[in-house]
Amino acid sequence: MDDTFAEPLSYSRLATYHDCPKRFELRYVQKLEEPQHWYFSYGKSVHAVLEKLLTCDLRQDGLFYPDGDALFPVSLADLLDESWSSSGFSSPMQEEREKRRALRVLSAYMPVFRSTWQQTMYAERVVTASFRGVPFTGIVDRIDRVSDGTVRVVDYKSGRPRHAATLSLHRLQVALYASALNQSLEFQGSHFILQTYYLRENLKAELDDGAEDCMTQSLVFVERTARKIASGDFRTRGGRKCFSCDYRSACTVFRGS
Ligand code: SF4
Repeated sequence: MDDTFAEPLSYSRLATYHDCPKRFELRYVQKLEEPQHWYFSYGKSVHAVLEKLLTCDLRQDGLFYPDGDALFPVSLADLLDESWSSSGFSSPMQEEREKRRALRVLSAYMPVFRSTWQQTMYAERVVTASFRGVPFTGIVDRIDRVSDGTVRVVDYKSGRPRHAATLSLHRLQVALYASALNQSLEFQGSHFILQTYYLRENLKAELDDGAEDCMTQSLVFVERTARKIASGDFRTRGGRKCFSCDYRSACTVFRGS
C-alpha cells in the first residue's frame, strides 16, 4: 500500500478522516489551507515550554539547567514569554487571558513533571513505521524509561477533551506511537505504558495492562482507514459537526444539506 500514500499517515490525518472523510479530502487531497486558530498557538506554546524543560538537566539543587546556568529562578512566565506564539487570537485581551491560563496550567503540572523528569529518555521524538504496508509518522511528546523493559509513551494535551470518542482517539494516538517504537531496535519487545496527559485538568489517562491489545487494535484501525483513503472513499453525512467546521464554505455536502 506504500505507493498509494505520497505522504505517510499521521495521527492527525487518521483522526481527521475518522471525524469526517470529506474534511480529510478537502484538507489533505485538495490541500485547502486550514485557518490559524488561537488554540493551535496556545498548544504549540505550552508544548514548546515542556520541550525546553524536558531537554534540561534537573540537578540535585532542584533547578533545571539548559547548559551552564540554571533556568530557574528565571520564572516559568519568562519561559512562556520566550515560547509564546500570538497567531490566531481575536484580541490582545483574549491572548493575555489565555497566556495566564497557560501559566496556571504549567505551574500546576510542575510537581508531577519534577517527580517523573528523571525517567525521561526523549522529548519530541520523531517516529516512523510501516504498519502492514501503510507508512506512518508522528512526533512523540515524551518517552520515559520507567524500569528495565518498561517504557512510557506520553502525549500532552493542552485542550479539554470534548467527549468519550475523543478520549478513545487520544488513546489510539499513543498506541500508534508505541506500535511505531516497537518496530525500532531500541524499543522492540518493550512493555509499553500508554499515557495521555490532560494539562488543563492536570490529569493523566494511563493504560498499562491492556496496552498491547490497544496497540493491536490501533493497527487494525490504521489498516481499515488506509484502505478507505486509498480507494477514495470520502463519503460522509453532514450534521452538528459541520457547524464548527472550517471547510463549510468549500464543502459540497454542507452546501447540499
Ligand atoms: S462541513 Fe461537514 S461534511 Fe463538510 S467537511 Fe466539514 S464536517 Fe465534513
